[in-house]
Amino acid sequence: MTTATEHDALLAVAHIAERISGANFVDGAWRPAASKESITVFDPSTGAELGEVAASTADDVDAAVAAARRAQPAWAAVTPGERSRLLLKVATAVEESLIELSQIEAVDAGKPLQVVLDEELPGVLDGMRFFAGAARSLPAPASGDYLEGVSSVMRREPLGVIGGITPWNYPILQAVAKVFPALATGNTVVLKPAETTPYSTARLAEIIGQHLPAGVFNVVFGTGPVTGDALSRHPDIAAVSFTGSIETGRKVGAAAADGIKKAILELGGNAPVIVFDDADLEPALDAITLGGLYNTGQECMAASRILVHRSIVESFIDGLRARVEREKVGGVLDPETTVGPMNSATQRDRVLAKIEKRSAGSRIVTGGTAIEGPGYLLAPTIIADVEKDEELVTEEIFGPVFTVQTFDTEDEAMELANGTRYGLAASVFTSNVGRSQRVQNGLNFGTVWVNNHLVFAADLPVSGFGASGVGTENAELGLLEFTRLKHVMIDNR
Ligand code: NAD
Repeated sequence: MTTATEHDALLAVAHIAERISGANFVDGAWRPAASKESITVFDPSTGAELGEVAASTADDVDAAVAAARRAQPAWAAVTPGERSRLLLKVATAVEESLIELSQIEAVDAGKPLQVVLDEELPGVLDGMRFFAGAARSLPAPASGDYLEGVSSVMRREPLGVIGGITPWNYPILQAVAKVFPALATGNTVVLKPAETTPYSTARLAEIIGQHLPAGVFNVVFGTGPVTGDALSRHPDIAAVSFTGSIETGRKVGAAAADGIKKAILELGGNAPVIVFDDADLEPALDAITLGGLYNTGQECMAASRILVHRSIVESFIDGLRARVEREKVGGVLDPETTVGPMNSATQRDRVLAKIEKRSAGSRIVTGGTAIEGPGYLLAPTIIADVEKDEELVTEEIFGPVFTVQTFDTEDEAMELANGTRYGLAASVFTSNVGRSQRVQNGLNFGTVWVNNHLVFAADLPVSGFGASGVGTENAELGLLEFTRLKHVMIDNR
């Protein structure tokens, strides 16, 4: 029997699923897609069908980009203050729909409802308000007379139409991280959400549509290879902002380069977590458990690759195991659940295949298997004694899995941590101030936490070093990504 909460949440998804079936959000309304093909969307907690969305073609992308292009000059002409006021109205409307949006996101993406309500959506709202305000005071070199007889004026302008492509692990958060800085700086947007998680973006589009001019924000549903590809190589897109895997990022970057367009790429990670013997172990274990299991480990910055000083490794593993085994894995509408399902059967099987391929000398401390359904459940897993060059260590796992390696010296810890193509995030746990300074200086990662992991604010930049990406999201730099600087020189003699 379903509870009232379950009933409400499933109803919220059913309603949006019905409204958007076979359609795209173009020019301020749901409009039938030219494509008659569709993608079936499943509930990760039960495996049940939630609905179908259009598998849009290049013609559908054309229609959305054309709408965004028509709307862009007028939107760019709106003053920053007025754009900010309108975006803040959107944020207020999102706040008023917080429960409904959280229900949609929880069910569709497979996230415990309470976590979405208490943490993710408040973070999304804060991001909206940050971008809306910060775009009113963008930096530029000072205008002035740098040569005799001429005056120089700097103009910071929008790029034009932005193509956005988002992944399934944080559908609404990633949508806002692209859409709000782009809109706040005077661009218009066409966004393609991931195949398995269309619904929160769809609801966001409806809310935006009630407050912003038609065509300013458009959504096309579809597959990566067809819809995403058509968007990233569309001639009328000025830039593409993509979050997803390295492999897809390479394709999106190549498509953009083909048209001499900017690509902002936020790609995968494989965060090392260095735990020294002088770390305050109990709070470190709490932070690492949360950092590794948040969003069922489907997190590009997840605390997955643990490097522990040899002298404390057994007590570390015991403490991690105790915490991991306390977690309650289950459906997202069960209030007891702390770790939700994997987003899709494909993702669960991908992670299981990686665990299966582990080196002969490694040992599973806990977990390592799927949990009997319904839903795509995977037991939180700790694998110790892994090799530094095996796939579980060198590649992103993207599931609730910790690997544990040991080190003897600070230099060895740094070498193991930096021994990866990824450069998104890392953390170090130590009570020695000098050591924390030395280690964070030497780490090749865009975000380094000291005595913490997985803490964010929209005011602070996220940049992938190495193969983890190009460009910045969040913070002032994230807004500047969607602008260009024009120098106007005026002869004043
Ligand atoms: P993915 O690369 O398969 O898909 C991401 C998006 O790209 C989806 O919308 C997909 O439809 C689209 N896509 C697929 N092929 C495409 C193509 N040829 N052209 C254009 N678009 C295409 O990744 P995923 O499995 O959906 O997401 C997980 C990945 O995202 C992980 O590697 C994770 O680390 C990464 N991620 C990174 C960040 C970050 O900020 N760096 C945040 C979240 C997720």
